Amino acid sequence: MERLIKIVKSLKLKTKLVYLLLLVGFGLVVVGLIGYVNIQNIKRNMDTLYFGSLLPLSELNSITSTYHNDLASSVYQWSNQLLSDEQASENIVQGLDRINTLWSSYLSHHKRPEEMAYVNYTEAQIQMIGNYFAQVRSLINDPDHSHPLSLMSMDENIQSIHSTLQQLIAYENDVAKYEHTILLAQYENALMQLILFLGVILVLVMGLAWMIFARIEVQQQQLIASSETLKHLNLKLEQASYTDSLTALFNRRYFNIVYEREFKRSLRANKPFIFMMLDIDFFKQYNDTYGHLQGDAALQAVAKVLKSTLQRPGDYPFRLGGEEFGIILTDTDCKTAQIIGEKVREGIENLKIEHKGSKILPTLSISIGGICVTPTVDMSEDALIHAADTNLYAAKERGRNQVMFSNKL
Ligand code: GH3
Ligand code: MG
Ligand code: MG
Repeated sequence: MERLIKIVKSLKLKTKLVYLLLLVGFGLVVVGLIGYVNIQNIKRNMDTLYFGSLLPLSELNSITSTYHNDLASSVYQWSNQLLSDEQASENIVQGLDRINTLWSSYLSHHKRPEEMAYVNYTEAQIQMIGNYFAQVRSLINDPDHSHPLSLMSMDENIQSIHSTLQQLIAYENDVAKYEHTILLAQYENALMQLILFLGVILVLVMGLAWMIFARIEVQQQQLIASSETLKHLNLKLEQASYTDSLTALFNRRYFNIVYEREFKRSLRANKPFIFMMLDIDFFKQYNDTYGHLQGDAALQAVAKVLKSTLQRPGDYPFRLGGEEFGIILTDTDCKTAQIIGEKVREGIENLKIEHKGSKILPTLSISIGGICVTPTVDMSEDALIHAADTNLYAAKERGRNQVMFSNKL
């Protein structure tokens, strides 16, 4: 049971609905089948009832034949002296008994009120004929046979009861046929109602399921759309968190990530790792002379040079903070790296941004300290930063606006 609950919980909403639908459909089919079987049973019962109506007919037929074969024929045989008085009398008693028994049995079947007029009339006739044969019997039993027996009168009586019984039989027959027709109509009606009912429920369930599916589809689409928007926003947020707002270069936070990642990659690939530190010369004086806003514009100009010089996918320019920048180069050799450093320095010099406060040039310049080594396991990441910083300090010491590069620690 627990396993079943687990399985159900693990299903997707749509799959659950499909199963639910199948279950409802299956339930409806079962209900339909049960209904169908029941209606078939009713029909069978009705047929039995029909034959039950025919059963009294056989009793009425037996009564008719008893009049002919037992009573009338015994009297004929007696009159032709083929039967003794006792035998004829006995046959009459037995015949009348049989008729009484058959009639009681016939009466025990269900009778409808409108039928009773026929039944009562027939019963009176049977009674009358019974009295008549009781008289016949006393004539037969009369040892002197003083009163003659009229066979013609007997024939008339037999004929009379015969036609009465035939009328009742005809009536019963018609009633049975009529009832069967009604029952058949009822059966067909019930079947139609069942089919209609199941059909309506099936259509309703299908409609409901369709609506639910359509709703789920819409909600899923909305969900996909909002998750796409969310992804996009996340990406933007991530980019923003890695970008310096003033220069649009990568920021210090991203530098930490890239530095560690690329250092390890170089270690694994046994390739040179290049890191450069850049610092604007006499920038304090620049701010003092031209103001902080102009200083910011100078920082943006320097960033532009970095971006335009470093365009390969493995080149990363950063603003590390203040007027200090950093460069990480991957997939490059030491010689090319040094050339790139020189290009950056030259690019900034070529900007020819006026800098009256500089003690070395009339324009803005930058000093660069770089290091290019193939990392080994015993080499610390900080050691490379320290080396680049030392080289930067050396470049400043040597007169600024230059690149100091070393290929080992
Ligand atoms: P040096 O050649 O030795 O580097 O001299 P320097 O004056 O550049 O000295 P330092 O590198 O210590 O100067 C840092 C100055 O950079 C201090 C501050 O005025 C300026 N600075 C730092 N951050 C910003 C910034 O975000 N905007 C502006 N406009 N100036 C900044
Ligand atoms: Mg500085
Ligand atoms: Mg400086």
